[in-house]
Amino acid sequence: MDIQSMTKKEIVGIIEDNKGNPSRELLEAAAKTRDKYYGKRIFVRGLIEFTNYCKNNCYYCGIRAGNTAARRYRLTKEQILECCDEGDRLGFNTYVLQGGEDGYFTDEILCDIIGDIKHKYPDCAVTLSIGEKSKESYKAYKDAGADRYLLRHETANDAHYNKLHPDSMSLENRKNCLYTLRELGYQVGAGFMVGSPYQTSETLAEDLLFIKELQPHMVGIGPFIPQKDSPFADKTGGTLELTLTMLSLVRIMLPKVLLPSTTALGTIDPMGREKGFSAGANVVMPNLSPADTRKDYALYDNKICSGDEAAQSIMSLKERIERAGYTMDMGRGDSLMN
Ligand code: SAM
Repeated sequence: MDIQSMTKKEIVGIIEDNKGNPSRELLEAAAKTRDKYYGKRIFVRGLIEFTNYCKNNCYYCGIRAGNTAARRYRLTKEQILECCDEGDRLGFNTYVLQGGEDGYFTDEILCDIIGDIKHKYPDCAVTLSIGEKSKESYKAYKDAGADRYLLRHETANDAHYNKLHPDSMSLENRKNCLYTLRELGYQVGAGFMVGSPYQTSETLAEDLLFIKELQPHMVGIGPFIPQKDSPFADKTGGTLELTLTMLSLVRIMLPKVLLPSTTALGTIDPMGREKGFSAGANVVMPNLSPADTRKDYALYDNKICSGDEAAQSIMSLKERIERAGYTMDMGRGDSLMN
């Protein structure tokens, strides 16, 4: 399947044909592509959700500023370092610091935290996922030691973007941030929710074409899941089938990309993670945040945060990965993309 050279119309056709149920041919092509470059290795990253304060008001998100029902928390530097210590004991070599856009964490504070993690664990990779910042800020984090940055573009279609976000946010800025991050030498992750309100096969095809243009090192794709206190509380969530179709198409489009089988996918289906692997995914991000804060990082309803989602259950996650026919790799797991 030569998706790289397909027109938007042809991509729409493939999405339409596979959205209700990804064909065996599609899933096998994706898994074979992943195997060619990464084999059966599944990389694990320790996720630290360090603040759920956010200045933004994305209509889909449970930690949006306007959600007065959210129980807010932020971790101290000491708590963040304790999460890394715990991760180190468990064998992790990548820490993903994710949070809302929280003004409390100034560049100075963030650089101090990044520097301390890199000082203590020089061989580990630090990934940031803290939203839209200026070039100067991104550069400062890079200089402090950050290696990777996850910033989902959410949708590559302007009109669709504006239906998911208030006027204060723009797709143009989001895309510019991604190009800036690339230019600064980060390993960059883009991505989108599958089944977000007002999404169509056309906007999904535009997501694939944007990803082809950006050539990110990672792509984060998970189903949209409604959150009860958000403006999209009554919208329909994304399906497992369409998520698997989009994972497969991204894997075939960018053979060397790192592709997580997300928590959201594990939330809508008990075997979602494994099904993601069969569609070409090769990363999981168990939760290293303190147990009592995990449920408050409630982007969507019913988020799984215990059992094999908890980094502490790493042995049980390993067994699950092996039962599905893969091996767990706790190395840094850098992307093979240039
Ligand atoms: N603030 C950072 C940012 O903007 O990239 C990182 C945190 S943000 C909450 C992380 C991701 O969660 C978003 O990029 C979005 O795709 C996803 N997300 C938010 N609400 C969601 C929902 N209701 N269902 C599924 N994913 C959701």
